[in-house]
Amino acid sequence: MPGKSAAERKKVIVLRFGELWLRGKNRGNYITGLRRNLLRLLAGQKAVVRVQYDKMLIEPEAEADVPRIEESVRHLFGISNYEVAHVAEPNIKDITKASTELLRSSGTKSVRINAHRAYKGFDFNSIDITKKVAAAAEKAGVAPTLHGYSSQLFISVSKDAAYVSMGKQRAYGGLPVGSSGKGVVLLSGGIDSPVAAWYAMKRGISPIYLHFHGFSDATEAMRSKMPLIINRLAAYAPQYKVYYVPTHVFQLAAMRAGRYELILLKSFMLRVAELVARKEGAEAIFTGESLGQVASQTTSNMQAEQYGLRMQVLRPLIGFDKQEIISKANEIGTYEQSILPYKDVCSINSKNPATRTDVELMAKLARDFKISALARRSLKLACVAETG
Ligand code: ATP
Ligand code: MG
Repeated sequence: MPGKSAAERKKVIVLRFGELWLRGKNRGNYITGLRRNLLRLLAGQKAVVRVQYDKMLIEPEAEADVPRIEESVRHLFGISNYEVAHVAEPNIKDITKASTELLRSSGTKSVRINAHRAYKGFDFNSIDITKKVAAAAEKAGVAPTLHGYSSQLFISVSKDAAYVSMGKQRAYGGLPVGSSGKGVVLLSGGIDSPVAAWYAMKRGISPIYLHFHGFSDATEAMRSKMPLIINRLAAYAPQYKVYYVPTHVFQLAAMRAGRYELILLKSFMLRVAELVARKEGAEAIFTGESLGQVASQTTSNMQAEQYGLRMQVLRPLIGFDKQEIISKANEIGTYEQSILPYKDVCSINSKNPATRTDVELMAKLARDFKISALARRSLKLACVAETG
């Protein structure tokens, strides 16, 4: 490929399954799900996806935007790492050329070179390949060394092609979205619940978002920052549904609940979540609660708020400190949207919420305030948005 630069050179992106690979019997389903999710994330990018025994290959077409494809791959749950390999002809001249192009474009100052000759018929062995490439690297201003290097270069030669790469990039691992079924995610406008959604999706949950808003008109919620947050999460799971449910029916009924208003509101939210889950075929509810983060997030309140529910409530952030959640929100890309101003339904509640609510009392509150009926009536007022 004379005259080609690193940017122009043909590439292959190799995705490795990791944990997925261990799941003997279900392997086929997982790989099918992973491939489907990858194609969705690639969203029409010009590339061919092929599954091989223990890996998946993306072969971008000539006009494809490789950095964008890499970006999609970084958001794919279910792979442990990926590698962008530059393709060279299986001769020492082109291997050396591809190596120096790549080293130059990477901007690295020193490199450890690792060559592997999978095709034993190749007329240079791995030591010869390393020596040739090291000499060329040095000429290009990149110091070859075995110790204290700033990057590594991997060269692999097979019969029909050679591959040159800077090594594996870590991916998030986890399981393909959808492989653990559906889950209803209670999504507020805050920092925590999008992170909880992310952890649920990482373990294979396909999300149905449920948001409670304090507007009289649902279109206001649908034009708020909520779709912005959801859009960030869509980089990991592009297919989802959102329920926007108003709280005014609840608020009118629960005005006299005083310090129990917050726990009643949580109980109401979970009841609606359960109804949504049954309707959508979801098997669990997720929240962004973390033990002790605010005065009301106690074990006894968590127990009380799920009184009467016949579905499990999972709280992926239970052991996280606020600072850890903020770092994660930054890393996954939801933080900036989460801190935009918003009319939060919880902020209008009592300044001194109950921190211990026993189940007997909760049973009485649920009866007195007719929580189930409020949940059913409110769900009827929901607006639903869905991806295509
Ligand atoms: P977050 O940062 O997620 O808003 P928080 O620290 O503000 O959480 P709370 O207000 O007690 O804590 O809410 C706890 C959890 O209840 C949230 O993480 C979310 O799962 C759910 N929740 C709270 N408000 C709403 C809402 N308006 N709509 C949907 N779910 C909500
Ligand atoms: Mg909140």
